[in-house]
Amino acid sequence: MTSLTLPGISASPGIVVGPVHLLKWVVPDVPPRMIAESAVAAELGRLHSALDRAVERLHSVRERAEKNAGPAEAAIFDVQVSIIEDAELRRRVEDVIRQNFAAERAFDVVMLEWREHFARSTHEMMRERVGDLTDVQIRVLSLLLDLPDYDPVDLPKGTHAILVTHDLTPSLTLQLDRDCIAGIATEAGTRTSHVAILARSLGLPAVVGLLDATSQLTSGERVILDATAGVLVVRPTEAELKDAEARAHVERSEEKALARLAGEEAITADGVRIQLLVNVDLPEEAAGAATSGAEGVGLMRTEFLVVGRATMPDEEEQYQAYAKVIKAFEGQPVVIRTFDVGGDKLPIGGFPHEPNPFLGWRAIRMCLDEPEIFRTQLRALLRAAVHGDVRIMLPLIVTLDEVREARGLLADAARELAVRGVPYRADVPLGIMIETPAAVITADTLAKEVAFFSIGTNDLVQYTLAVDRGNARLATRFTPLHPAVLRLINRTAEIGREHGLNVSVCGEMASEPLMAFALIGLGLRTLSVAPRSVPRMKQIVRGIHASVAAEAAKAALDAGTAFAAEFILRERLSAELA
Ligand code: PEP
Ligand code: MG
Repeated sequence: MTSLTLPGISASPGIVVGPVHLLKWVVPDVPPRMIAESAVAAELGRLHSALDRAVERLHSVRERAEKNAGPAEAAIFDVQVSIIEDAELRRRVEDVIRQNFAAERAFDVVMLEWREHFARSTHEMMRERVGDLTDVQIRVLSLLLDLPDYDPVDLPKGTHAILVTHDLTPSLTLQLDRDCIAGIATEAGTRTSHVAILARSLGLPAVVGLLDATSQLTSGERVILDATAGVLVVRPTEAELKDAEARAHVERSEEKALARLAGEEAITADGVRIQLLVNVDLPEEAAGAATSGAEGVGLMRTEFLVVGRATMPDEEEQYQAYAKVIKAFEGQPVVIRTFDVGGDKLPIGGFPHEPNPFLGWRAIRMCLDEPEIFRTQLRALLRAAVHGDVRIMLPLIVTLDEVREARGLLADAARELAVRGVPYRADVPLGIMIETPAAVITADTLAKEVAFFSIGTNDLVQYTLAVDRGNARLATRFTPLHPAVLRLINRTAEIGREHGLNVSVCGEMASEPLMAFALIGLGLRTLSVAPRSVPRMKQIVRGIHASVAAEAAKAALDAGTAFAAEFILRERLSAELA
């Protein structure tokens, strides 16, 4: 049999060979089956046995989740058990079966009614349960339809499986037993979707945007995930397997050789110093990131403390998490961003469904509308700040009002700590992310009231080009080198210089050699990258002249298209590194 190579997008490099673990966590299609009057009793029996098995299963899933992720995350499964055990739900499904509907059909119809009823509720608590209802619907229907068990937190122990799924949400990613996964392959997503970012943080090879992959694979079959090239090879031949293993070996040796650069300075061939910082997504990553050769943290994404959880972490838990990162970096600058929840980063069932989540109730908007949540985070940050050089950063700013309101809440948080007599630092610098065209256009005004800027190119590209950053179908249109994006970055850097404000870049652009070359050319001197990219970036920085990068960037700014800009930059960078 010949092999089949499915093309995707490289989200996190690495080459692995392993068995597929297919995760189909979607509501299955239910055939419209009717039953005879004489079959009603048996069908009721089938329903009850499926419900009992679902409850049993949830108990074991809960146990495992508690071990993997802690009691707060595991509590979500209690809610799902109580839904299945709800007497009214059971009565309603039984009634529909008595009208000669097959058990799966009856359950599906009633769950649809319930989901709709909950989604329309004026009570937030009820709306928050819609996600749980969907999970229960999938679990029970899978049992009634005899479908394979696709439990998202149940990977076979000891296997280094390649997880293949339509779209892995951050909440699912956090529930997975990471010791059992060697790589991730998804149909949806792009390089800048948060699954990709998380996979890079965890150092897991990942290919995204593999349209239709799940329909071409079965669990257990052996595949090659070549996340460096961005492909998934199905039914690989012996020769392909050998070749993949050889390339994986070469990659590992190259990475080891590059790691020696960790201790070198990031200074260009013509003597310009570049400050290289790291992005930290999970507190557990901090210790490893601190030895990557970076000079501090340019972005800590705190929302990963929230996604995948049923409840918000309290002040003490957050304080511990922030303190862990700050202490790992011993006196180096640590920029901690306030919750950027929303968009494609959601807690379990905790947010109302929105038709346009990236234009929706996200980031600073949620924080300002929920001041209790925000002040709790700010108190935790001010307390943790006594341990090092902390700076607080606000995401998705579009107006000065947001900065002023946030500053007011920061002052409230400090007062609350003072009243309690808890140690905290009052003078923590407050900076903002520049990730909307509105922020760039008004950057001169914003610059007067904040301590620093950090350009979030993932969102800046998305909002400038009107291209959804997570939509695999639009991946080729997500072009960070589009002259419009380069001009916005250039303008931000100029305003930073005029106001004596540090401007960094913490989006994915900073981790890509060609784009980092362009950024240095535009005058940026601080880049915050994934920990694994630090040695590679040092190699690039040390191999180029800032003056050449500046000429190339100037030409790229005037190029008519992203393609032309890329051509110019690629030519100059190749000549530099030759
Ligand atoms: C960005 O938008 O570039 C960024 C760094 O933030 P996030 O990817 O978390 O939205
Ligand atoms: Mg962003």
